[in-house]
Amino acid sequence: MNFDALRTPLRFLDQEIRDIPHRDVLAADEIWWASEGNAISASVDRAGTPWLRMFDRTGARVDEILYSPDYWKMLKRGYRSGVLWRAFEEKSLLPTYALLYHTSFYDPGVCCPYTVSLGTAVPLSKYGDRELQARFLPQLLRKDDSVWQGATWMTEIKGGSDLGANVETVARLADGCWLLTGDKYFCSNAGAELAVVAARPEPATPGVRGLALFLVPRRRNDGRLNYFIRRLKDKIATRSVPTGEIELRDSEAYRLGPAEGGIYLILEVLNTSRVANSVASVALAQRAMADALYFAERRMAFGKRIVDHPLLRRQFEEHFRNLRGALALAWEAVALLNEVWQERPPYSDRFHLFRLVAHLAKYWTAEFAVQVAKWGMEVHGGLGVLGEFSAERWLREALILAIWEGTPHRQMLDGLEVMERKRAHGMLFDRLAPHTSPEELQHVETRVERHLKLPAEEREASAEALFRGLAAFTANALVRDAGD
Ligand SMILES: Cc1cc2nc3c(=O)[nH]c(=O)nc-3n(C[C@H](O)[C@H](O)[C@H](O)COP(=O)(O)OP(=O)(O)OC[C@H]3O[C@@H](n4cnc5c(N)ncnc54)[C@H](O)[C@@H]3O)c2cc1C
Repeated sequence: MNFDALRTPLRFLDQEIRDIPHRDVLAADEIWWASEGNAISASVDRAGTPWLRMFDRTGARVDEILYSPDYWKMLKRGYRSGVLWRAFEEKSLLPTYALLYHTSFYDPGVCCPYTVSLGTAVPLSKYGDRELQARFLPQLLRKDDSVWQGATWMTEIKGGSDLGANVETVARLADGCWLLTGDKYFCSNAGAELAVVAARPEPATPGVRGLALFLVPRRRNDGRLNYFIRRLKDKIATRSVPTGEIELRDSEAYRLGPAEGGIYLILEVLNTSRVANSVASVALAQRAMADALYFAERRMAFGKRIVDHPLLRRQFEEHFRNLRGALALAWEAVALLNEVWQERPPYSDRFHLFRLVAHLAKYWTAEFAVQVAKWGMEVHGGLGVLGEFSAERWLREALILAIWEGTPHRQMLDGLEVMERKRAHGMLFDRLAPHTSPEELQHVETRVERHLKLPAEEREASAEALFRGLAAFTANALVRDAGD
């Protein structure tokens, strides 16, 4: 087996996906990352948590996040390349997700600001009224370094999985303007010019039905700060995105969408980022493998290169096959999202199929990234645990990819729900039928149906084996579809 496609993201995308959009842009980016970007990315990671300046020297509250100027160069490059504006200009998410893959190979953290900016621009463009769109959307879609960034803040201190119970931020209407008060505990891209925020409009209704999505600008209409950054998190990885705690204090806000059904908008935002996370996870796994390959081709043991020892070679082959499956699954989620991203509730069957595939992809690719990154460390032997080489970084980054945008438990349980309530697995099996044997398909179908008939408690308790099996089956079938 030839592993050359592993060496750069473009080579692998070229091999696996037909008609990669804007190949020329990715190729130019690749040269930049090799000559400059890799060093910037490594230094941002090594420098650790960025620095928050809360006051200026006159004592005014400013809440500025300070990075080295190189960081901004790395970040803004992706916006200029079109990670956001192309989606709206070309009315397609494919260029965005190709760029996200490409970027994540080099820096999985920097993929987050792009994702949450997308997660802000999309609901604004779908659910904001004309005036709101005219006021804020163009800034997010700028093609130069003056581009604004977005953010998506839902999670509070009591927990992110159960938003219905734990979002306590309230929204009250005063003189026709919404004012938000509450604390958000995990806020990536803190400092963004715009954020979409989950809050509970008064009079408060409990549960998910009482939630709505609001657009919150960084500055109030009179120019003062509209939200405050209490502190930045000291994280094990994704250091190229500042994650902070945000205080909303009568913060001016604009409700997106109708009074009812805000939870659907929140889930749409999460869906977009889960797909981005899937793509980022595969890219990270590719990077961990590429670095392991580089090392294994140079390290000698027992008279030959370690890559030429049968045991290690077989592991490379297996991971490479699984990498192809992981990309096929992630890209299926991208392709389906690209079909349904303009839908509003009530959603089509296609949308429910997308949801199932997105849960499978988020779960499977993140787990895969963790396994491959751990293995990549092992291939490096003792050097793998040293901070001066990159292998340990990929493991740190992968561990976060598995948690944010919903933990594996959340993916399994939500995936189960869309199968139970919408029969999404039937649509998935129709899609996969041409690429599997009837016996294999029948076996998986029977397994899923049997599982769905279990008593509720057992259905949840034993969801992992089913979900893992279904994800592996889907990934393998999709690779065959790609012409294996
Ligand atoms: C670096 C980083 C950046 C983040 N950035 C953002 C951001 O920008 N915006 C944002 O809104 N959030 C953000 N988050 C929050 C993230 O989405 C949450 O951490 C995640 O959704 C899980 O929520 P939690 O941490 O509160 O865990 P909890 O919800 O408290 O869950 C704790 C554990 O219980 C499990 N669990 C919960 N319910 C069940 C169940 N029914 N069955 C089985 N197990 C269950 C969970 O899976 C988890 O393992 C970020 C997180 C990190 C780590």
